[in-house]
Parts: sequence; structure tokens; C-alpha cells
Amino acid sequence: MERLTNISVVREILSRHGFTFSKALGQNFLINPSVCPRMAEYAVTDDNTGVLEIGPGIGVLTNELLKRAKKVVAVELDKRLLPVLDETLGEYDNLKVINADVLELDLHKLISEEFPGMRVVVCANLPYYITSPIIMKLLEDKLPIDTITVMVQKEAALRLCAEEGSRDNSAITNAVRYYATPELLFHVSSGSFMPAPKVDSAVILLTLRNPDRKPRDEKMLFKVIKASFAQRRKTVLNSISSSMSLDKTELSGILMSADVQPTARAEKLTLDDFIRIADALSDR
Ligand code: SAM
Repeated sequence: MERLTNISVVREILSRHGFTFSKALGQNFLINPSVCPRMAEYAVTDDNTGVLEIGPGIGVLTNELLKRAKKVVAVELDKRLLPVLDETLGEYDNLKVINADVLELDLHKLISEEFPGMRVVVCANLPYYITSPIIMKLLEDKLPIDTITVMVQKEAALRLCAEEGSRDNSAITNAVRYYATPELLFHVSSGSFMPAPKVDSAVILLTLRNPDRKPRDEKMLFKVIKASFAQRRKTVLNSISSSMSLDKTELSGILMSADVQPTARAEKLTLDDFIRIADALSDR
């Protein structure tokens, strides 16, 4: 169905289904007509693309994805939206809606069963309360996906796409950079949603690739990154030693052997620095 960005059409459908918005589920639906076509264009680059959408809501982005993709599988946690989606997207035969919590799903199984032989991408206007767990699941599960095109809160977008050494550089910046090349595509104002959230948003594109350089132990790398940013105002020496219960004198030697100044702040370190620290800790 077209016109899913028309406020009175949306209000009429939702009231007919007795639907009320759940803040807890991050339900802010897009009503700006230019945003979903743009997101869908970035996500679906050929007609052999299968799209995994997280949280279709009433199907405004799904509708644009369905027009361009070979198949869309949309995972929606709120079962009250299933009859709504039946009404708004019933005309498409390349859609499957799954009523589940995306964080609980075996996505390897879903992708191999639903998208055989297709280029697979993720595209979504994410529920903001679980932005980081969703992105980390998509990356850490090492899924056979090409790109992730998602709307997130503006501050999260700045962190996810931060430059090395910049103020927004954080633990998730480095995790993302390990698995993908991030790009901030465009900003979206809070007035583009119904109901309007208190925050602005942005759409980002993560293009997945094999890590440029691998540590000997990936778990150690992510432990070190987390520990370094645990107390980001402190030096890496203090932050890592207190988070990982390591002796400061020994850790200072390990950091220097990895060519990292113990007095540096985590935000100033590069992904390569974290990999060298992780390797030095694995060797000890
Ligand atoms: N795609 C729609 C749009 O752009 O208008 C809705 C986006 S809304 C920001 C987020 C959607 O995610 C809601 O439909 C919400 O019910 C759904 N959702 C929340 N938590 C979820 C979860 N754990 N798994 C799957 N869907 C979830």
C-alpha cells in the first residue's frame, strides 16, 4: 500500500486496529516520504537482493524494499502489528513476516533457509533501545550479509561512524571498524516520525568485509577494547588494569611492548593499537 507516510491514512489504519504506540518497544514510525525510498535505494542494489528487515512497524520501509528486492523477511516483535501488516502489504508475494525478538533468532539458519542464492542485506529503522546489541549481533555472528543500512539515533550514528582519535571514538566504533567500513549517509529530523521522538536520527551504511588485520584471539581484542573504554576519562593503563584486574607495573610493560603509551586515553588509540595490546596480553 502506498501513502503509508500520510498521517491521516496511518491514523485511520491504526485506530481501526485499536493500536496504541509502545514507547518500550521504540515505536516511532516514519512519516517523511523521502526517507524510506532513499534507504531502500542504498540497501537494494540489484534484483537478486534478499532483505532482512528488523521491526517493520506498519510497513512503510518494507513497502519500498518490496518494490526493489527479490524477497523481504521482516522480523516484528509486536504481534499487534501482524494484522496491520497483512492489510498494508498483503498485495506482495515476496514478503515473509516473522513474529519474534530479533535478538533471540538464529539468523544463520534464517538466512540460509529464506535467501538461498541471494545477495543478503539488512535494512531497518531500528528500535533505538537495542541499537548496539542488534548491530553487535549482526557483526559478531559473522553472517553472510553484504551491507547493513539502518536508521539510528544521531548520537549513536556519530559513535558508530567516528574517526579514529576523535571525541566520539568509543568501544563500538572499534568493534564496527573491525568488521565493516562505516559511512554516515544522511541526517533525519525528529519531525519525520510519528510520534516524534526527543532525539534526531541518522541513516548509516556498514559495508561488511574481512578484518584487515586479525588478533591472535578475537575475544581478547574485544575484552581489551571494552576495558580501555570502561573509564574513558582515565588513562588506558588505569582503565584496563582496573577492569581486567591486572597489575599496573606489569601492564605498563605490556603496553610499552605493544608500542602504546600507558598514559594515552582510549579514544586516541587506533584499532591497530588495540590489536597489538590484545596480542601482547595473549602472549603473556
Ligand atoms: N520500520 C517502521 C518505520 O520505520 O516506521 C517501524 C520502526 S520502529 C522505530 C521499531 C520497530 O521495531 C517497531 O515496530 C517495534 O515494534 C519493533 N521492535 C522492537 N523491538 C524489537 C525486537 N526485539 N525484535 C523485532 N522487532 C522489534
